[in-house]
Amino acid sequence: MCGVFGAVVPGSGTIDGGQVAALGLFALQHRGQESAGLAVSDGEQLMVYKDLGLISSVLDERRLPSLRGRLAIAHCRYSTTGSTVWENAQPTFRLGPRRAIAIGHNGNLVNTRELLGQLRGGRARLPASTDTELLTALLADEPAADTVDALIRVLPRVRGAYSLVILDDRRVIGVRDPHGFRPLVLGRLPVDADGSPSGADAPGLWGDDAANTGWLLSSETAGLDIVGGEYVRDVEPGEIVILEEGREPRSVRFAPAQPALCVFELIYFARPDSYMEGRNLYEARRRMGMELAGEHPADGDLVMPVPDTGAPAAAGFAEASGSPYREGLVRNRYTGRTFIQPSQTMRQRGVTIKLNPLREVVRGRRLTVVDDSIVRGNTTKQIVALLRRAGAEEVHLRISAPPIYHPCFYGIDTQIEKELIAATHTVEEIRTFVGADSLGYLSIGGVLRALDLPYDRFCFACFDGNYPEPVPYDASRRKFMLEEDGEVLSLVGVSG
Ligand code: SF4
Repeated sequence: MCGVFGAVVPGSGTIDGGQVAALGLFALQHRGQESAGLAVSDGEQLMVYKDLGLISSVLDERRLPSLRGRLAIAHCRYSTTGSTVWENAQPTFRLGPRRAIAIGHNGNLVNTRELLGQLRGGRARLPASTDTELLTALLADEPAADTVDALIRVLPRVRGAYSLVILDDRRVIGVRDPHGFRPLVLGRLPVDADGSPSGADAPGLWGDDAANTGWLLSSETAGLDIVGGEYVRDVEPGEIVILEEGREPRSVRFAPAQPALCVFELIYFARPDSYMEGRNLYEARRRMGMELAGEHPADGDLVMPVPDTGAPAAAGFAEASGSPYREGLVRNRYTGRTFIQPSQTMRQRGVTIKLNPLREVVRGRRLTVVDDSIVRGNTTKQIVALLRRAGAEEVHLRISAPPIYHPCFYGIDTQIEKELIAATHTVEEIRTFVGADSLGYLSIGGVLRALDLPYDRFCFACFDGNYPEPVPYDASRRKFMLEEDGEVLSLVGVSG
């Protein structure tokens, strides 16, 4: 996972594209916490700044004033297999014979090895070990004079998941792969003559500016909200959207759409205040909880979430089951998401730092605990143990997603099958491992009923093994590749 944001703002006033993009990116911090970066252009010169760390520490008040431009893209990174080093932070930057470009990428390519073979000069020409760096080099080297023409030539050769924001010196360009695995939305930033967002009651968010419109790209609609933008539409799978100052967005299709949005975005990953496929995600998750209560009723004294992401489904479960809803775990908001920590050791430390039980709520009670997923099982096991130490009489676990049987190669950190507890254990064995009194998962049918959308709109591959984009043997056997070809391994699937 990663978060991407793009902005083109009117040039006649005080609004700054770098500021807008940095602020939009703040709403996407949950999508990646390892590094952050911003690329800006004033129409002539392109500048990139990136570093390891949270957005607030990388794009702080000392840096932002020197990163000004009417055009900007921003990125926060969560690596899927690559190392967390400065070189792998984004946006990437490349000065080619025809163009200078910067790219922010959410997703994971699956034919990196093949693409590497197409790069003149090979890996020696790459300053970093990410698939995004390789894509940037291919685009910068492409002899077509125009960036959009270069994209039309290069993208049909690229396979896997990619939602991109691209900056050349004159434009911000949004791209979504033909499956649309990762979300990307187009928004507008209306600005009245007094500088306030058009129609907004709030005082001018961006100071005095001429009447005009800015254009935005964001991984999630919540990114548009935070800057005072309005949702226009999703960037379509297989579409290139070109944003230029003073013009309506233009659209170019480079491949037919074969939609397969990652359903995990709706179940767990994206913010509950975001909208995807026309659904508000809080509401979708609440309905998943209601479906879960129907499929796996639990006779507990109360229903409690694993905070924060389990809360909407727990609310739905409580509503449907008629059990009271209580919060029994307090989350320290200043630690990263457990799932997102790069190493197992960090993950194990993470849960005890992050969650503390409310003994008054938990003690002597039969708890129905609702969470949104079990990946490796270690975090869940620790949560159950925490609750038992706090005096819980029974712990009945309910998961608002199906079991994760298969790895993801499209940008979520579950590539190694043997690390997925459901790939090697039955539900009963998982229940025993995590120490719960009972365990129930929502079915794929339950997810679809909650969304009221058809199966063929989504990728469900980690639940049913039906991969919309075939994964080459080398991309699905990374550990094997390490023994065979270390050079290629270090380039596979490391964007986010
Ligand atoms: S395999 Fe799973 S996590 Fe990966 S894109 Fe598909 S649904 Fe999402």
